[in-house]
Order: sequence, then C-alpha cells, then structure tokens
Amino acid sequence: MEQADVVVVGSGPNGMAAAVTMARGGLEVLVIEGQETIGGGARTLDLGLEVGMRHDVCSAVHPMALASPFLRDFDLRARGVELAVPELSYAQPLDGGRVGLAWHDLDRTVAGLGVDGSAWRSLFEPLVERSDAVVALSMGDKRSVPRELMDGASGLRAALGLARGILTQGTRAWNRAFEDDVAPALLTGVAAHAIAPVPGLAPAGAALLLATLAHSVGWPIPIGGSQAIIDALVADLRAHGGGLRTGAPVSSWRELPAARAYLLDTSPRAAAEIWGDLLPPRAVRSLRRFRYGDAAAKVDFVLSGPVPWETPETGQAGTVHVGGTRVEMAAAESSVAAGRHAEQPMVLLSDPTTADPGRELGGLRPLWTYAHVPHGSDRDVTEDVTRQIERFAPGFRDLVVASRCVPAAEMERHNANYIGGDIATGAVTVPRMLTGVRPAWNPYEVGVPGVYLCSSSVPPGPGVHGMGGWFAARHALRQRFGISRPPVLAP
Ligand SMILES: Cc1cc2nc3c(=O)[nH]c(=O)nc-3n(C[C@H](O)[C@H](O)[C@H](O)COP(=O)(O)OP(=O)(O)OC[C@H]3O[C@@H](n4cnc5c(N)ncnc54)[C@H](O)[C@@H]3O)c2cc1C
Repeated sequence: MEQADVVVVGSGPNGMAAAVTMARGGLEVLVIEGQETIGGGARTLDLGLEVGMRHDVCSAVHPMALASPFLRDFDLRARGVELAVPELSYAQPLDGGRVGLAWHDLDRTVAGLGVDGSAWRSLFEPLVERSDAVVALSMGDKRSVPRELMDGASGLRAALGLARGILTQGTRAWNRAFEDDVAPALLTGVAAHAIAPVPGLAPAGAALLLATLAHSVGWPIPIGGSQAIIDALVADLRAHGGGLRTGAPVSSWRELPAARAYLLDTSPRAAAEIWGDLLPPRAVRSLRRFRYGDAAAKVDFVLSGPVPWETPETGQAGTVHVGGTRVEMAAAESSVAAGRHAEQPMVLLSDPTTADPGRELGGLRPLWTYAHVPHGSDRDVTEDVTRQIERFAPGFRDLVVASRCVPAAEMERHNANYIGGDIATGAVTVPRMLTGVRPAWNPYEVGVPGVYLCSSSVPPGPGVHGMGGWFAARHALRQRFGISRPPVLAP
C-alpha cells in the first residue's frame, strides 16, 4: 500500500505552506488536490476568453503575502517572484468626480484627505510605524503574545492603536473623527473585504490590517499573476522530495495513503466528511456547525483599453473599491447580509496591467472583479458589476471585449472550500477569527490524532499568507515527529 510520512489534502496557499514546512522538516510529503490545477485560491489560468490571456481566478492583490512571516522567511523575492508594488495602493471613486486615494506613502495620503488628513494620520501613524507588531497580532495564532509587542513602547502603542481603531471603526462611533465623506469611504472600502455588515468589529479589524499594509509593505501584484507564489512553493516542495497528485477529490480517509500526519487545507465540512466515522461526535458537530458567510460572484473581463475613470488618478491604483460612499456601502452589505442582492453592490476591481504591463496582450487587458452577493446566490452579476463601474467610469461598457461570470453558487465547482461562494471559508466574525472551528488551545487539531485542519477556516483566517498551514504544520511536526525547532525556510 502507498505510504508517506505526511499527506496534505488541498494545494491552496495554506496547504502548500504546510507541505513545504513538513518537507523542510525532512519528511516525505504527498499533496493531494481535488482540482486538475495546483494553487486553490491563488491560481492564474487561461479562461478561454482571449487566446493566451491568463486571469487570476481568485486572489489577485497580495499585501498579506508580502507581510506574512511565513512567506517572508520563505523569501519569495529571492526565488524570483516579483511583487510589483503600485504607488497607489487603492482608490475609492465617488460621485461628482471625487475620489479617495490611499497611497503607499502615508504622508501623501494624509495630504490628499484635506480636513480629515489628521484623523487618518492619528489612526494609522502608530500602526504603520510598527506594522511588524500589527502583522504579528493579526497574523498570529491568537494563542501566544507576539514578541514584537514587547519590543519597546511603540509595539504596545501599535497594539493599543489597533484596539482603539477597531472599537471606533467597528461601531456606531465610526464617523466621529471625520468631517468629510471621503476618508470614511476610503476606510469602508477596505472593511468590506470581510463581506460582512459594517460597522462591525471583524470588518474593522480587516480594514485596519489591510490599510496599515497599504502604507507599509504596499499592496503588490505578482508579475505574471498569483500563480507565481504557488509555483515557488511547488518548486521548493519538489526540491525537498515532495510529490503532488491532482484531479483527486478526497471524500473519505479510506482513499488516502497511510501516513503519520494529515493536514487538511479543506473546509470544516469536508474535514467532517472525510474523517466522520473516526471522529468523536462532539468534534463532528463543531465541524458541521461551523458557519459560512456571504459570498462573492466573480466577473473576469477582457478590455480593449484602460478603464476610463472619471478621475484619472484612479487608474494608477492596483485595487479599486467600487461602492460609493460609506453609507452606500453599508446599505449594500446589509442587504447582502439580509439575503438580498444590493441594487448597487460592493465591487472590487483590479487591472493587473497597472503594475504588470506584461499582462497586456495585443492591446487587450484582463480585468479582475467580484461583487458581494448573498450566500449561495446563482445570479450572473455581469450587468450589476458593469453598471457600478460605468457609474464612475462612463464608457467602460464599450471597452468590454469578453467577460465571464462565476456566480457564487458555482464557486465550489472550482474550489470546494468556497461553500456557497464564501471566499473566506467561514463567516468573518470575531469568534471565528480568534478560535477557528471551536474554542481550543490547539485550533488546528480536528479530533483524530495526527489530523490537522490548516485552511483559512483556522487562525489567522483568510488571505494568501500561508500562516494557517505554517502553524498547523509546526504542531504536527512537534506532536507526530518530535521536531520542535521550526524548519528553516530560506532558499
Ligand atoms: C474571488 C476571490 C478573490 C480573492 N482575492 C484575494 C486577494 O486579492 N488577496 C488575498 O490575499 N486573498 C484573496 N482571496 C482569498 C484567498 O484566495 C484565500 O483566503 C486563500 O486562497 C485561502 O487559502 P487556503 O490554502 O486556505 O485555501 P484555498 O486557496 O481555497 O485552497 C484549498 C484547496 O483545497 C482543495 N480541496 C478542498 N477540498 C478538497 C478535497 N476534499 N479533496 C481534495 N482537494 C480539496 C481545493 O481544490 C483547493 O485547491 C480571494 C478569494 C477569491 C475566491
């Protein structure tokens, strides 16, 4: 019978991070992936819209990858992965030819926000100054106190600033510091990444982390697409003797080779299905009860030219949050939470050619967008997305050469983790971000000795950072193989 030291189910960024960590620990690793292609939420594929053009099927913009302690030690850049950081991290167009701009440079952002510049500075300066402490807190396992916090008064100041920011921006007090509507909109556009009602504590946490990264490491776009990150992980796994098998969806542990540790880059629901008959009933119940969140419907476009934004600076941004004012975005997100499609949905947009001109092909360019919709929605949102963009970029419609929508309900077909179109593999709430599937000292243990959950359902949660895989793998190394020193990840 086939054997390995370690089997990893799923090849998303967390699965690959776990696989690389275990292989670097000197173990024989096999990754088993349900899809025909490797990379889960970080794949870049030819969708058949334009011959030779590649689109990011899920993630496209990578502040989390650039800040991730795991990927920093793995050193993507030394491995030839180019992460192009646009000067303008993100933009928030508003009606009447106005726009909010979050530059990589905090001072430039403050200067552009006029009357609300000082409120923006007071919120972000302590966080940007110690972005390492913000990252350690937000991307930690939520079980240990990061040493960065203890490192001088500024570490503690950053932690307090984060707490204060979450409490103000996550509650009805969120407008108190601002006079105009541009800065609040700029912040709400980032909070909306959580796909949850705003104001809310979890979306505020997401906003503060992502906006801090915008002014520290930046919001990079990998040259060639997100797949470049996965390819680097695959190359390292292979160099350390690991293997990969694709096109093999796993539904029971009986289909898996014998191994001493199993790491699951899957949803909690799949973990319950695969291990169900070996799990204690309580563990099955918590895996099955795990709550999934609202959803995204993806629309990929091919355009014959740049998006004709009313405010030309918007075109310099790597990411554009298309949702209008804070009030409009809050209304859109609360419609979605109530199970209704918003009339003016929250749309996220990225034109990779702003940072990577090589993605243009014969005068045509890919455009990555998605809209927030209720969980399980089967709506084709191409027209909703087009209308929202057109609102701030008149003439957009005329540039569309081809498009393809993946409704939320169909997301699971290309990634089983995105249940009902929930791209965070779990509702983004404070308890989930802290505990994962259930409150436990080790949130990665599933309930069968040697089986660990390592997907974005466990701390620190969604995003392309590999931290769930890294934490789960380190537990597995220690508990199953007696290796307590974390493996060196450098090339
Ligand atoms: C439209 C969209 C846009 C996004 N934008 C961004 C962004 O710009 N930046 C960012 O940081 N994040 C973004 N994300 C989120 C990010 O992609 C995810 O948080 C991240 O990929 C999670 O990594 P993971 O390894 O936990 O799981 P995934 O990347 O989802 O990978 C899970 C893998 O496991 C496989 N699998 C699952 N079940 C089984 C099974 N039973 N048998 C075999 N294989 C299985 C799946 O096929 C998949 O390959 C986006 C996601 C989507 C969908």
